[in-house]
Amino acid sequence: PEGETDDKSGKGGKRRTRSPRRSARSEAIERVREWRDQDLLERKERLAQATGRLRTRRSDEGHQQFVASRPTQAEVEEPVMVKELSAAIAVKSTEIIRKLMASGVMATMNQRLEPEAAISLAAEFGVELTVHKEKSPQDRLADQFRKIDRKSLQSRPPVVTFLGHVDHGKTSLLDRIRHAHVTEGEAGGITQHIGAYRYHEGGRDVVFLDTPGHEAFTQLRSRGANMTDVVVLVVAADDGVMPQTVEAINHAKAAGVPIVVALNKIDRPNANPDRVYGQLAEQGLSPREWGGSTEVVRTSATTGEGVDSLVELLSLEAELLELKADPTIPATGTIIEAERDPARGVTARALVQEGTLKVGDVLVCGPSFGRVRSLTSDKGADVRQAGPATPVAIAGLDEVPDPGDKFYVISDLSEAKDMAEKFQATRREKELFRRQAVTLENLFSRISAGETRELPLIVKADVQGSIEVLIEQLGKLSTEEVKVRILHAAVGAVVESDVLLATASDAVIVGFHVAVDDQAQRLANERGVQIRQFRIIYELTDSVRKALEGMLSPEIREKVMGTAEVRETFKVSRIGTIAGCLVIDGVIQRSNKIRLIREGIVVQEELSMESLRRFKDDAREVRAGLECGIKLAGYDDLKLGDRLQAWTTEEVARTL
Ligand code: GDP
Repeated sequence: PEGETDDKSGKGGKRRTRSPRRSARSEAIERVREWRDQDLLERKERLAQATGRLRTRRSDEGHQQFVASRPTQAEVEEPVMVKELSAAIAVKSTEIIRKLMASGVMATMNQRLEPEAAISLAAEFGVELTVHKEKSPQDRLADQFRKIDRKSLQSRPPVVTFLGHVDHGKTSLLDRIRHAHVTEGEAGGITQHIGAYRYHEGGRDVVFLDTPGHEAFTQLRSRGANMTDVVVLVVAADDGVMPQTVEAINHAKAAGVPIVVALNKIDRPNANPDRVYGQLAEQGLSPREWGGSTEVVRTSATTGEGVDSLVELLSLEAELLELKADPTIPATGTIIEAERDPARGVTARALVQEGTLKVGDVLVCGPSFGRVRSLTSDKGADVRQAGPATPVAIAGLDEVPDPGDKFYVISDLSEAKDMAEKFQATRREKELFRRQAVTLENLFSRISAGETRELPLIVKADVQGSIEVLIEQLGKLSTEEVKVRILHAAVGAVVESDVLLATASDAVIVGFHVAVDDQAQRLANERGVQIRQFRIIYELTDSVRKALEGMLSPEIREKVMGTAEVRETFKVSRIGTIAGCLVIDGVIQRSNKIRLIREGIVVQEELSMESLRRFKDDAREVRAGLECGIKLAGYDDLKLGDRLQAWTTEEVARTL
């Protein structure tokens, strides 16, 4: 329909359509999608055939054992050589090579296969193959650390994050816990801010992450750094469950972290615990007092009431969770925050999670590396070492790592340097990628650059009913000019495949009452795919509408005024061709632009008139049914039967 007039509104309704570049592009995307679907289908068929053939062979030749030992699914990591493929799918290399040769590829054991080719080959042997991206040195390091035999596992304290609605008392509670403790126990009385704080008293140890708020929590989590063992959900007894409370609950649930509720501000006269209990139960956090399984502690950061019980409960929770770590393995942990100080260099505040970090250890940490020069405890003391679940400020790294970066102690300094450099290189690549990705916010600027007139969305929701409502509501937002295009809508959490689809089609993912899978979040961050979560339909549609309105902004609406048909042409020397026309529709105005249409094809888009005449007189406009003479400016190639469509532009308010 692009390039044609809008029939419904007749002569007055045509709007400037999407740029041809954009439509070519969306066509291309469409095509790729079709190919991909086709490809998957074919692959499935091949799989079915292959397994079918094996089945016959099994009964014919009795190769039962051979067939039974071949997996139906397998995984390999890039780069895939024939050798690796052979091992993964339990098919002899020679058989694979024979297959390759049959399709005209001369191969050896060490032939490198493109992932697509490997997948296709595997399918021929009835194996569904997944090819994983090549791992970064850090990924390998993480794998190595995961595989270390932990012989001296010991209990460790829980790591706790305070979440909740703003002003419900997160900071006050944290301060209270620390303050009470410090004034009793510490000589200096003032603790250092190092991103986390370890409470230690009466045999109870609890580590509190000092960055209350969802952003920090989610940011760390999205980077794969799930440091938190228990979330303390702070709810003000006089205010109850608020939007950010719900968000906090969802974050904690998404991370699979148990929740303990601190019903704070219990000292307030208008505190209403019963009401809050009801609200918590509605959120699936039924209080134990009510027969549910959620621990709720009534606290007041102001009077100190319940604060001890909270700490006690948290240390009990740790026993239930059976948290353990081995202090004897090489140390590893996560950066909470880091900065560069002109005098002291880089300071990284981190939590040691396993092993024991010592002064002099060689560290690799995201983009940075170095030898530990000094360690400072949360009490501001210089320490020689820090064991599991210990917050510590590390000096000695060469670069500033990001919150959520993991650190690992390794033996070789030059190896650490190598890894840090590789990390920096891949991060630069990812940055590039990220900058090109679409978010609801940056759509506006992309649209002004004339790049898109369509908002592709992937919708994930809790139940089918929500999806139907969302599709209907979002559909209503589309106009002729800007469209919501729903690429995929399904029930369930946002998962990796959604992010991949979004990457492939520059889409934004909207989630309605659903969680975001950890891997999906990580991938989304890597690829710069935006995932927006909503709990209220209005907020979702509003957000999308704003994005679409942004898409409308740079636009000018075109209005078709009328059409004239060329009935005669006169060549006049020194002037050019004058067309004798009949206005067949609407009105032609002297000031209009002219589109020349020949046999249904637009030959010229934007001509102007040198003169418009009725008989011998200049006319300002000529209406349908009347004849007129038109001389186009700088254009004489007119033929009988040509149509001259008169159009103008108008500014229209930019709302949907
Ligand atoms: P955050 O935004 O969740 O970190 O909240 P804050 O800790 O900054 O507290 C917000 C306000 O509530 C501050 O003015 C605190 O003094 C007050 N507040 C915090 N906890 C309590 C409490 O238990 N009782 C009373 N009465 N006020 C509190």
